[in-house]
Amino acid sequence: MADQFDYDLFVIGAGSGGVRASRVAAAYGARVAVAEEFRVGGTCVIRGCVPKKLLVYGSHFAEELQDAAHYGWTVQGMSFDWSVLRDTVLRDVDRLNAAYTQTLENNKVERFLERAVITGPHSVQLASGRKITARYILIAVGAWPVLPEFPGVEHCLTSNEVFHLPEFPRRVVIQGAGYIALEFAGIFNALGAQVTVVNRSDQILRGYDESLRDRLLQITMARGIDYKFNSPIRSVEKQEDGSLLVTAGTRDPFIADAVLIATGRRPKTDGLGLETVGITLGEKGEIPVDEFSATSCPSIYAVGDVTNRVQLTPIAIREGQAFADTVFGDSPTTVDYGSIPSAVFSQPPLASVGLTEGQARNRFGNVKVYTSDFRPMKNVFAERMERGLYKLVTDANSGKILGIHMIGPDAPEILQAAAIAVKAGLTKADFDATVALHPSMAEELVLMR
Ligand code: NDP
Repeated sequence: MADQFDYDLFVIGAGSGGVRASRVAAAYGARVAVAEEFRVGGTCVIRGCVPKKLLVYGSHFAEELQDAAHYGWTVQGMSFDWSVLRDTVLRDVDRLNAAYTQTLENNKVERFLERAVITGPHSVQLASGRKITARYILIAVGAWPVLPEFPGVEHCLTSNEVFHLPEFPRRVVIQGAGYIALEFAGIFNALGAQVTVVNRSDQILRGYDESLRDRLLQITMARGIDYKFNSPIRSVEKQEDGSLLVTAGTRDPFIADAVLIATGRRPKTDGLGLETVGITLGEKGEIPVDEFSATSCPSIYAVGDVTNRVQLTPIAIREGQAFADTVFGDSPTTVDYGSIPSAVFSQPPLASVGLTEGQARNRFGNVKVYTSDFRPMKNVFAERMERGLYKLVTDANSGKILGIHMIGPDAPEILQAAAIAVKAGLTKADFDATVALHPSMAEELVLMR
């Protein structure tokens, strides 16, 4: 039966979801091929989470070197060379690209490094013209930065290009106040650029707990980031000297060396041939799927950002795994989307799991909130005024922890472990019963009264 098709599974897109699904399906014995038009690894590895985190590490040295004097260190001749950081990060991306490719190879997944378009319920056509058939097709093509329309938008960067900047920009304008905007605002600010964040509303990081967002705004403003709210960019004009004249909202125009647009990412479904198999896109351009990631066409599935369920790498990986277990492992599996931890690698970072205080009040009514607003020891010693803020949101009746929200050094590292407690349904009494690990920032989690 399987032999009537060239492959059992043809995956379009070798990102986090596609690679996981391919290798697991192959391990179950399926004959698998994957098409990738750019580089194996996908957004997270090639131009997202991983290189971004390396830039965060790289930029953090500015703070560490500054604080070093308080610990008795004299650091002479300090300077920063963007080209060294950029090239080292890009080399690491190459390494990971090779590692992902190797994984596919080890699992005997055939790779086609070209674009594939769906031509029927069981068929695709590659850019080279080759036609391929498969019993199942998995769409895992991810999402793509959305560019608002304004004159001069072609002079702006997105997160796709920002890792390749030929020169370090001294004046950076970032449009948007979500994940990407605030992570890059932190990176460029720490590396010494003058950073202006312009946003269409007066909110940053919509969806995160309000007290954390306020704290981040306060700290980053004190660090020198300029925010221009209610001021979407209206135009960007290239000047003779190569600089960019930015007009935002009703404000006076100002000059920048680089403008980064970070206004969300949209499922990358254009030209994929979905109409040929009767798949109709959802409101946000996403491919609608059921709990097993099946589309309206029985032989076609979709996982990851293209389905716009939760745009996070670990979710795409889980969806890819669940798809392979369901279709090739004879083990129908769905993904649990409850209590997904997330973090913004701003400076300082923030991290969160479960319900915000506002969400909890709407849903449970009787909510008790515990907070710890503290100055981390390392900040006190380095004479930094910045304070951390941890917040436990609990159901006042049962004491169950409904959400944990943290901003401060290493918040994402600490929250990952605390998220287990939320997922397990533990209570405030369980936290109280846990002895503090002293001295640490994390001990604040068990000391809130
Ligand atoms: P976000 O959805 O996080 O933020 C979008 C920002 O752009 C918001 O501030 C929004 O403003 C603004 N905006 C949206 N549309 C427009 C528009 N048409 N004109 C002007 N402004 C607009 O998107 P990002 O691009 O930052 O990130 C995309 C996704 O990638 C995230 O949702 C996240 O899932 C993922 N990601 C995750 C990371 C992590 O886990 N650490 C890191 C980076 C990305 P307003 O809120 O006022 O409407």
